[in-house]
Amino acid sequence: MTSSASPDIHQLLDQSKRNTENVIKAAPLGICITDPHGYFEMVNPAYCDFYGYAEEELLGQHFTMLVPDANRETLHDLHDSFIEGEERHELRQEWEVIGKGGKTHTIIAEAARIIGFDGQPRKVTFIVDITQRKRLEQRLQKANERLHYLAHHDELTGLLNRRAGLQRLEQELSRSSRYGSPLSVSMFDLDNFKAINDTYGHGVGDNILQEVTAKVNETLRETDIQIRLGGEEFLVIMPEVDAENARQAMERVRSAVAETTFTQRALTVTLSAGVAGYVEASTTRLLDHADKAMYQAKQSGRNRVVVASSM
Ligand code: GH3
Ligand code: MG
Ligand code: MG
Repeated sequence: MTSSASPDIHQLLDQSKRNTENVIKAAPLGICITDPHGYFEMVNPAYCDFYGYAEEELLGQHFTMLVPDANRETLHDLHDSFIEGEERHELRQEWEVIGKGGKTHTIIAEAARIIGFDGQPRKVTFIVDITQRKRLEQRLQKANERLHYLAHHDELTGLLNRRAGLQRLEQELSRSSRYGSPLSVSMFDLDNFKAINDTYGHGVGDNILQEVTAKVNETLRETDIQIRLGGEEFLVIMPEVDAENARQAMERVRSAVAETTFTQRALTVTLSAGVAGYVEASTTRLLDHADKAMYQAKQSGRNRVVVASSM
């Protein structure tokens, strides 16, 4: 007995085919099929919505119309080699794409190779929009970079801050002791700076600190490292420089600052510096020597450079 109530195999196949088509149409992710040469044969509604094109604007077009000029050739070649290759699946990849009107997005694309009705290979590509996630990632990365910068630099002058500067000194010192190369440091402090603040205000004082920093940097060598230890007190690390050359360098800095006028008010300011050459691998000993020499410079009348070993 044949059951006339149950549908025959042709009907079932037809239903299955229509269901499959509906699944592709309803899929929340963009799906397209490209022919062996990269021309669109099928685009689902999510694909069209994402790019902002109508189905008929895409069908028959080459898929590289949706990618930036710079990537066109690469993507064209990738499509060809995937079509001709052995791999049935293409690994997830992140791409920049361009929708109608020129809006750029970031997508993740994953693809599979299928055989079409004519026995020729086709590429099915599934895309997911990650533009928002990408933007968030970029914003997060920028914020992290900013945090990293702020943790290591002084905001007013842009110089390395005390903590980062002392870390740097440790590194430079261990490098010097490893290679037996010279290293000197100089600690300097602006003279009678309180009077400048008291007379012209803190804002003018801040501007002077910025301008003096720039002047000092300009006078020093590229390889010297200027650090703001705090307030109007600074440290200069001079790798590969012995105490006598460091003294000469700081003497140039001292006179350059003393001869320059700062801010629109054309104010002058001087500095007192202590120089210490590296004797043993201890940052505290080195800083202590430089500090004592600086104190000596203040004591003996300011606006001068004193070398620790000559005390
Ligand atoms: P000395 O020659 O002995 O160094 O005298 P001084 O007046 O420079 O030294 P003192 O330590 O008495 O004063 C340092 C002054 O530096 C105190 C403060 O007003 C000023 N100062 C410290 N940090 C800043 C800052 O970030 N901005 C400004 N504008 N002033 C600062
Ligand atoms: Mg001072
Ligand atoms: Mg001071």
